[in-house]
Amino acid sequence: MRTRPRRWPVVVSVLAADGRRWRLAEQVGQGGEGVVFAVADRPGLVAKLVPHPTDPAGHRERIGRLVRRRREPHTARLLSGELGTLAWPLLAVRTVRGEGHGYLMADLRPRHQPLDRLLHAADRERHLPGADWATALRAVAALAALVAAVHAEGYVVGDLKPGNVWVDGRGSVALSDLDSWQFADRGTLFESRPRTPGYTAPERIADPSAAPTRSADDFVLAVLVHQVLMAGLHPFFGLPADGGPYLSLDDNLRHGRCRLTDRRSVRLSEPLPPADLLPGAVRVLLRAAFGEAGRGSPAARPTAADWSRVLGAELGPGRLRRCPAERRHVHTVERPWCPWCDLAGRGHHEYPAEAGAAGPAPAPPRTVRPARPPHSPGRSQ
Ligand SMILES: [Zn+2]
Repeated sequence: MRTRPRRWPVVVSVLAADGRRWRLAEQVGQGGEGVVFAVADRPGLVAKLVPHPTDPAGHRERIGRLVRRRREPHTARLLSGELGTLAWPLLAVRTVRGEGHGYLMADLRPRHQPLDRLLHAADRERHLPGADWATALRAVAALAALVAAVHAEGYVVGDLKPGNVWVDGRGSVALSDLDSWQFADRGTLFESRPRTPGYTAPERIADPSAAPTRSADDFVLAVLVHQVLMAGLHPFFGLPADGGPYLSLDDNLRHGRCRLTDRRSVRLSEPLPPADLLPGAVRVLLRAAFGEAGRGSPAARPTAADWSRVLGAELGPGRLRRCPAERRHVHTVERPWCPWCDLAGRGHHEYPAEAGAAGPAPAPPRTVRPARPPHSPGRSQ
């Protein structure tokens, strides 16, 4: 059995089937599934290559079908840009020596940032400095609407995670790594296999060979909604309250250790965003997803369309309030006083004052990120 090389060999250029050649520039990304390179002299393009795919012929076929489906009416609706941006595979390419295959896609980086950068205060201040909680709410509402549209056109995202979701300063979203989507094309099912710890639905944790479903996406969408609205806090974060060892977020999930559905199931030592910063209707949906019913029965979960409706309503007139003490603090009108001031009073500044703005001088931003367990996504496995 051949072992995969630890490092991608130097790739100078890639070829399309018709012989056209693109020169590659620097590596700009790497995930469990592939490596992304900038394309020289083509600032709007990047190339994603998968070195030594497990099933090279199957991988090439999948890319080829996606490239062709781009022109079909159902996919064209997704690509209209109304709901967000999709980095759809534009053209299949291979390395000159043929050891790597992949595709060209739009470069999301000029306008978007990886979703991770919206989650944690230090990254948010550096990369999305104008973002407040309204931005977070717009981002998850937009993500839910986009995932609902993806589902309506017959696709399953499969490996939904912060690394594949992108966001801009206004809360618009984009999705990348579409080659891991699951879809059926002319009688062939192209299954999605990658999965990421902390972003996997319970039934796929229980049965690692199970293909994802729309309901599996719906579960992970709920995880992302919780993380984005709760300043990065993963819904299954915490040490087991029964004194047992912390193993992983997925282990907490399997045992139903979730602050929102069972406050006594986890021990949380540091100041965290208060659960009541979430609007009531959002809390109802999160509990439906993470409670016994949502974990045990995929059909019982709120769908992406449910999320889109409920989150969209929270952006309606009169639903948000700006804090009188700090203008970057935005919260739901349902909460009589500012949750971000409460958190700042305990030493966590999630949305600190802009430089030069009026308001109390904050301490340097500190993220609500524990040393262990992690909030951030792991690599795909
Ligand atoms: Zn405040």
